[in-house]
Amino acid sequence: MEYSTHAAILDFMEQAPSPASALLETLRLSRGLTQVELARATGIAQATLSKVESGVMDLDADRWEKIAAALRVPVRAFTEASITVHPERIFHRKRRTTPKSEIRRIGADLALTRQRIARLIGAPATTLQRHDLEDGFVTPQEIAQAVRSDLGAGTEPITDLTGLLENAGVTVLCWALDSLQVDAIAAWPEDAAPLILLREDASAERQRFTMAHELGHAVLHDGEATEQQEREADAFGAEFLLPAARLRREWPTPPHLEDLLPLKRRWGVSLSALIRRAHDCDLLDESAYRHWNIVLSTSGMHRREPDPLPPERPRLVTDNIHAELAKGATLEKLAERTHMSTDEFSSIFLEKSA
Ligand SMILES: [Zn+2]
Repeated sequence: MEYSTHAAILDFMEQAPSPASALLETLRLSRGLTQVELARATGIAQATLSKVESGVMDLDADRWEKIAAALRVPVRAFTEASITVHPERIFHRKRRTTPKSEIRRIGADLALTRQRIARLIGAPATTLQRHDLEDGFVTPQEIAQAVRSDLGAGTEPITDLTGLLENAGVTVLCWALDSLQVDAIAAWPEDAAPLILLREDASAERQRFTMAHELGHAVLHDGEATEQQEREADAFGAEFLLPAARLRREWPTPPHLEDLLPLKRRWGVSLSALIRRAHDCDLLDESAYRHWNIVLSTSGMHRREPDPLPPERPRLVTDNIHAELAKGATLEKLAERTHMSTDEFSSIFLEKSA
């Protein structure tokens, strides 16, 4: 079902969906189900489901039970739904191979996760500012410097990027993102704080670059990522992780591997990214850059990061949960509060980020 059709039905009926009907659509999308598939799973007619999602019909308790069971949530998710939750728009470079339904599914996941976290620990407020490239800033690099300064990082190495973002009110969670073939997804709606879903199995260096890149999208952009915006987010991310001014000051001449390893480790970037950055900053000319790339490929260091960093792990949500458990709360109670099954609650908020 396409959104355009749906919107037409809503306009015609002049009916706003209730929190329960909006939740039905969002949960269904997050489970990757069509209305027809949900109809088959519940024995409720697709036409009925469509009317419920559009807000023109309500269901009896018995049928809400069936729907809740099929969508693997407690029925109270529907009976006590109080906030209208719609799938979120996401910053994502569309690949031709990525099905639209997958993008919608993750958008629904984002919205549900945001609501669940709000139920669990309250909605975070962010200290992060949006910036506009036409707002007196000439380059993404300058905005990266401004954001560093906003976040109190100055020009120093950021050893714990996840912690820095979490302190600024950005929620970071590890997530299975294989179906989108992306390393991360970020969303920052007008009325909420940014949320970043991070692929769980990437190297720390890659995760850090991805987070810095997504942060760039979050502060710079507000729509589908174009090629130009991808370049801007990359430029932002590179400068955010390692300011050019610092690289120029610390770059060893001539560059030997034993001097580059501590440098890449201190700044938390991959060796390939460091080499690339040195080239972009005119510290390595074309032939030296080519030479280094051959060294990295033939030694296997392109694929396997030398002297790797320990993985970064989001902690904010997990720490809050552990604090509540320590005070005597049970997993069941916390899952109940978030309107989730205990299994799903543990798997999303505890196991992935442990
Ligand atoms: Zn991007």
